Amino acid sequence: MPKIPTVYLVGAGPGYPGLLTLRAAECLRQADLVLYDKLVSPWLLDFAPARAERRCVAELGPSHDERIVPIHETMIAAALAGKRVVRLKGGDPCIFGRGAEEAEVLAKAGIPFEIVPGVTAALGAAAFAGISLTHRACASAVAFVTGHENPNKPESMLDWHALARFPGTLVLYMGMSRIERIVASLLSEGKDPATPTAVVQNATLGIQRTLVTTLADLPRRTREEGFTAPALIIVGPVVARRDDLAWFERRPLFGRRVLVTRPRHQARGMIDRLIDLGAVPFLLPIVEVREPANWKPVDDAIHNLLAYDWLVFTSANGVHAFLGRLQQTGRDLRALGHLQLATIGPRTADTLREYRLTPDLVPTRYQSEDLAAALLTKIRPGQRVLLARADRGRDVLRQQLSVVCTVEQIAVYSQIDVIETDEEVMNALRRGEIEFVTLTSSNIAKGFLSQLDETCQQRIHLGEIKLVSISSVTSADIRTLGFPITAEATEATSDGVIDAVVGLVSTQSENTSTFSSPFRKQSDRMT
Ligand code: SAH
Repeated sequence: MPKIPTVYLVGAGPGYPGLLTLRAAECLRQADLVLYDKLVSPWLLDFAPARAERRCVAELGPSHDERIVPIHETMIAAALAGKRVVRLKGGDPCIFGRGAEEAEVLAKAGIPFEIVPGVTAALGAAAFAGISLTHRACASAVAFVTGHENPNKPESMLDWHALARFPGTLVLYMGMSRIERIVASLLSEGKDPATPTAVVQNATLGIQRTLVTTLADLPRRTREEGFTAPALIIVGPVVARRDDLAWFERRPLFGRRVLVTRPRHQARGMIDRLIDLGAVPFLLPIVEVREPANWKPVDDAIHNLLAYDWLVFTSANGVHAFLGRLQQTGRDLRALGHLQLATIGPRTADTLREYRLTPDLVPTRYQSEDLAAALLTKIRPGQRVLLARADRGRDVLRQQLSVVCTVEQIAVYSQIDVIETDEEVMNALRRGEIEFVTLTSSNIAKGFLSQLDETCQQRIHLGEIKLVSISSVTSADIRTLGFPITAEATEATSDGVIDAVVGLVSTQSENTSTFSSPFRKQSDRMT
């Protein structure tokens, strides 16, 4: 009988992708099926190979209880069929996560399993809200408590009398729907009504919200301010010390919703940087990259490389596509030995370096005109230039260079419009839930703007959706279509676009403080 693959019960952490463990990432990278909880961040699913099947357990039943058996059956059936299963669960699989129940079922079915621990929500929330759960000055213990006892239990396993006297910090999971009862139980058992208490909702994500109040005021304040699950309640004097430690909520783009419109396979760098800056990223690829419709012109040029003096790349995609084809046709880097290499900007240059090639020319500004001007100072009359590029885009480079030399232009990849856009993201735009739209090329800008309905268009004109463009060329194209630009990158790279968003936000929020705590003295409030 063939060996049954191990099922991995993996903790995904509280949401921030960087909090995934190395072991979890390894398991995901070799998965055939990822069966994930609703609370798991969608960005984590990118660690699995594109071919892997991704199923959210929400598809398996309307409620928690109704999903239990189908989850077990799905894992077992997939493992018996020889698939490598990752059961991806929020936080740690065994902290209020029913991980043990799933492991027991696997054990009974004779299926090998491994439990991969994760950063539980309490640790993520505490770190990202700036709360040290066992600060030496005021807590020498911490208790993780469920606020949602299994209603089928004949009597609560929780001893509220003991919890009210617990000599340390209490962290309550799943407590939002029973917040009144929890607070009443603690108060009636003698817990001090003035005990500092925090609620951290959506901890570790850009949409994190934190409320700091007293235990007695907690139900009213959470109701008034609309706090909902998923959230943790943290009770204890450690909470009062958060103001100096709340680093995440001071990140430059904290809570800002930013749309990335690049092709999916190239979006990750921007998304990771946005997450790092505290933003809430959305992805709506407008174009995708494919093989060119016809390899013949590329193959002919590769066959004839000795006839050229310069090889010019105008995008990272072009570098990957050209060098990929070089290899596919049985050649290697030695075929380029006699060529001078030029790239339009630093990202394309970095992509060349990934192949151990060093560009001979990178202009100081990154538009076609700048590349043409820089090349014209180097190219000798009569030299031959090979331009490896997309099957569409501006013709400036060829036009300007062909005045002094022979230019051969080859489409090494094709750019196609994404026809089916993500309706969820479109709806977020319509509802005004996305503030910044990053437009990283003219094609993307045109494609994006052509897909907007009137509601979105109006939001742009009202300044509720702000367009941030990569360069003056892209800005000009956007203005020609009748839309305003809120900011333009100084450096024409995707990092430059994000810097422009940071610049906008820092001007908006100068002199405004984003939070304050009732336990903080007026005099040391941050400015
Ligand atoms: N196994 C998970 C907990 C599952 S129980 C873990 O170890 O974290 C689900 C509860 O966890 C939610 O009701 C909420 O109280 C808490 N939770 C999970 N993710 C959270 C987050 N990002 N922010 C705040 N609370 C979270």
